[in-house]
Amino acid sequence: MSKIFCLSLLLLLSHTTKAQSILLTQDGKSPYTIIVPQKPTLIDIQAAKVFQDYINRISGATLPIVSDQQKQSAHEVWIGKVNRKEAQNINYEDLGADGLFIKTIGQYLWITGGGKKGVLNAVYTFLEDHLNCRKYTSAITYIPQQKSIRLNTINDKQLPAFTFRETFYNDVYDPEFMDWHKLHSFEGRGGDKSQWGYWVHTFQSLLNPGEYSKTHPEYFSFYNGQRHPGLIPNWDNTGFQPEAQLCLTNPDVLEIVCRNLKTAIDKKPEALYWSVSQNDNVNYCRCEKCAALDKQYAAFTPEQKMYSTHGGEKYPALGMGSLLSFVNKVAERFPDKIISTLAYQYTRVPPSGIVPRNNVNIMLCSIESSRNETLEVGDTSFASDLKGWGKITNNILVWDYTIRFSNLLAPFPNLRILQPNMQFFRKNNVSALFEQGNIQSGGEMAPLRAYLITKMLWNPDIDIQKTQDEFLKIYYGSAAEYVKQYIKLLHDNNQSGKGIKLSIFGSPSEDKETILSASLITQYNKIFDEAEKSVKHFPELLDRVKSARLPVYYAILEIARNEKTGDRGAFTTGENGILIPNPKIVNILYEFAYHCIKTKVSRLSEWHTTPKEYLEKYLEFLARP
Ligand SMILES: [Zn+2]
Repeated sequence: MSKIFCLSLLLLLSHTTKAQSILLTQDGKSPYTIIVPQKPTLIDIQAAKVFQDYINRISGATLPIVSDQQKQSAHEVWIGKVNRKEAQNINYEDLGADGLFIKTIGQYLWITGGGKKGVLNAVYTFLEDHLNCRKYTSAITYIPQQKSIRLNTINDKQLPAFTFRETFYNDVYDPEFMDWHKLHSFEGRGGDKSQWGYWVHTFQSLLNPGEYSKTHPEYFSFYNGQRHPGLIPNWDNTGFQPEAQLCLTNPDVLEIVCRNLKTAIDKKPEALYWSVSQNDNVNYCRCEKCAALDKQYAAFTPEQKMYSTHGGEKYPALGMGSLLSFVNKVAERFPDKIISTLAYQYTRVPPSGIVPRNNVNIMLCSIESSRNETLEVGDTSFASDLKGWGKITNNILVWDYTIRFSNLLAPFPNLRILQPNMQFFRKNNVSALFEQGNIQSGGEMAPLRAYLITKMLWNPDIDIQKTQDEFLKIYYGSAAEYVKQYIKLLHDNNQSGKGIKLSIFGSPSEDKETILSASLITQYNKIFDEAEKSVKHFPELLDRVKSARLPVYYAILEIARNEKTGDRGAFTTGENGILIPNPKIVNILYEFAYHCIKTKVSRLSEWHTTPKEYLEKYLEFLARP
């Protein structure tokens, strides 16, 4: 009796499921047609083709694409704003530029989205969230094979956590990776139509020192008893940069800046964002008028907000009074544009008694923060600045930093803070996020970090552990467990909570007693020996494991060069008591350089040192014990 009851319940359940579900393909064939609007946008066409392509790659079935002028049939997939009476019940304004909407209606599937790329976003999200496809890197796409695709009821509306989403990592700017993950590029990489006319540090373009320094020194910063209109060599000696900033209370400066900005806007009228922001130095104007505005709008005393960028001289970060007074005036003249300015270094602290105009964007930079702890815990001054900005505007772009710029191949255990930081940004009214990773090719954990950041730019609440595990499994194959062990060991020792800063400008030698202690290095090497063994018959996977190991080798080499002799030094004592290069270090150097070159690692620091240059310099060093 009970058996019969169970059986009939099962039949009933399976019948109900069937009634609600859609059989998109069966045994590699499909009764479905893809319907596009009579006048499709370019995005509609791309979205329909992507849908057609991936359904074919998953199941073998090819669905035809036809216009909505065709008489409605029983099996249709609707892409975008199609003329079907069931596909009308949505407010497109709610979806913004990029929001997406996926819904099954009886036997129909409707995929649509906001006016910019929402429809394409919806197709890629459909592939990922409902058909389990994945795009891990530009070259690695995972497509599950299933001849019959059955869809359960779908009612999926998604809006991005941030309206501007950029992962500044070399591999990311593959056009399909960008589209799949709904990314932007401020400079139009990867085919993204950038909304940015000017991005950052634009005082020098808007009022050129070369043009005015001789005739009008009063346009430039006053400090140490004089004006500073000159140019100095820039940090990599490839050109010149302004020595200081503009005098923002000089009325002529406002006129010249607005005139030059208008010329630039006329040349690129489609761009929405225009940066009017300080040059990359902290030499702001301290003339009587500028200083008075800074003081008037300062929410703190200077002593409360003394910052320094990387261990350099300290400055009060209360320069926003004169800057925002100026930028608000510029923004008033360009009401159809968004004028972006920097809350960076000496202008980072939110002011009191003045707020950004509604068309001003605040670009806030976390360059000073430690990376082994969340911003909220590890950099309370930045956290309080962000909270302050979040109270007076919701037009904030955070420029966040996620790697070790001075040593791109050094171990950098910051993976655990990425998610809480991004959630913290969202909670405090940040609307746009620029995550600066490694724009050079290669780099420590580059594929994994780029993927995790990318996923969280759309949704910071993803299951990060599951996402990471899944990535590792596909990317490293049977070595995944070892790479996971390495990541865990490195992060368990990242000194979080011990008051030790993990800076984006640090070096392995600074970490030699902590994350790179002799005993930990031994353990890392053991893990990677096993990892390499586990994929030794799979050359592609082996290369990826060796790439993951490069940071351990780099740390060994850097510490060895610094120590020179001793257990971890680059030299050892030879037969006659003279110093010779330690053969173990030499072997690691060769392996390191060879694998960097083989896998096209372009630089070892953000600014210089190719792998070949590194090898050459290290060999010179070894030749002179
Ligand atoms: Zn001034």
